[in-house]
Amino acid sequence: MVLSTISAPPPEQVLVFDEARDGFDGVIVLHSTALGPAAGGCRLWHYGDRTAMTADACRLAQGMTYKNALAGLPMGGGKAVLQRPSDPALRQAGFSAFGRAVRALDGAYVTAEDVGTSVADMNVVARETHYVAGLPPRAGRVGGDPSPATARGVFLAMQLAVRRRLERELGDCTVAIQGVGHVGAALAAMLHAAGAKLIIADLDSSAAARVAVALGAEIASADAILRCKADVLAPCALGGVLNAHTIGRLSAKVVCGAANNQLADPAAAGMLADRGILYAPDFAVNAGGIINVAAEYFGWSPAAAAERVEQTPMRLNRVFALAEQQGLSTHDAAEALAQQLIVAGSAESRSAA
Ligand code: NAD
Repeated sequence: MVLSTISAPPPEQVLVFDEARDGFDGVIVLHSTALGPAAGGCRLWHYGDRTAMTADACRLAQGMTYKNALAGLPMGGGKAVLQRPSDPALRQAGFSAFGRAVRALDGAYVTAEDVGTSVADMNVVARETHYVAGLPPRAGRVGGDPSPATARGVFLAMQLAVRRRLERELGDCTVAIQGVGHVGAALAAMLHAAGAKLIIADLDSSAAARVAVALGAEIASADAILRCKADVLAPCALGGVLNAHTIGRLSAKVVCGAANNQLADPAAAGMLADRGILYAPDFAVNAGGIINVAAEYFGWSPAAAAERVEQTPMRLNRVFALAEQQGLSTHDAAEALAQQLIVAGSAESRSAA
């Protein structure tokens, strides 16, 4: 298959901020605006230096471009990452300054929650700019924490992947979940309701204990979760967890989770395929949250948003089919499909202009 590339070489813009000058230490990356405003959440994390922060923001923003395109959203991809302030009292001022930076981009970037940020933080941002979602929902409207929608999409995708690779239902499977934060805990509840056996791990022992008590899940250590005996691994913590070392020790035959950028490098996709592990590409399955964000931002109804989340397995099926037809890894197939959609969408908007 001949793949077209995105016309303007992404990332289109990388904006670096520093606390003394701009009021916060962080990076906003507009990876692509080919399909619409660059949309993607704001991550608050402790980064060693600005190079690490910029690299993370660029990778996450690229993932958003592909995720939004695959989900059929009229949005490009972007991401903001902010350095966690050493003094928690500076948090509010930092998010106000970030809001002003988003406002200055004049709609080219739309932000929302991500790891480390909350609805309360987005409320602070919203005092400065309209280009923010993930705000408390108004009656009859979409809004608030997007994690339940993300978990629902991952759950449906996992159901499809398990049927395809194991010819079983989730109720007959053991699922290992790495990270039971917002998405991981919601996913665990859905899997428990479907009858799956759960093994969970979280660096935050109280989060793991809460889920274990509520759902009767077994707790594994953060080190052991990637090699524990399970049918499915659901990475729901941070990225980069699938590398030569961890893939060699996986017992799961399906990997399907919410974490962004699960593959440590592009070679990891081939290693998973070589081991007969069906990998459901992260950006093809974790779009529920950004679908919610888009619905809130564009004013779509809750029913329209929910319908698009329910279509997650249909979109994943296209990825699996393309991978099989073309002999590609599922990751490469998902990227190829996203690129096709971006090229087609850009041509359409050029001809409409
Ligand atoms: P969260 O911060 O609420 O939860 C992450 C959890 O992972 C935390 O409890 C943390 O203690 C735990 N954790 C971190 N490192 C770990 C490790 N090595 N081992 C075990 N546990 C570890 O974040 P979230 O909103 O649940 O998001 C989880 C992942 O899904 C992130 O990668 C995020 O980018 C991605 N994601 C989230 C959404 C969303 O709607 N929230 C949407 C798409 C993608």
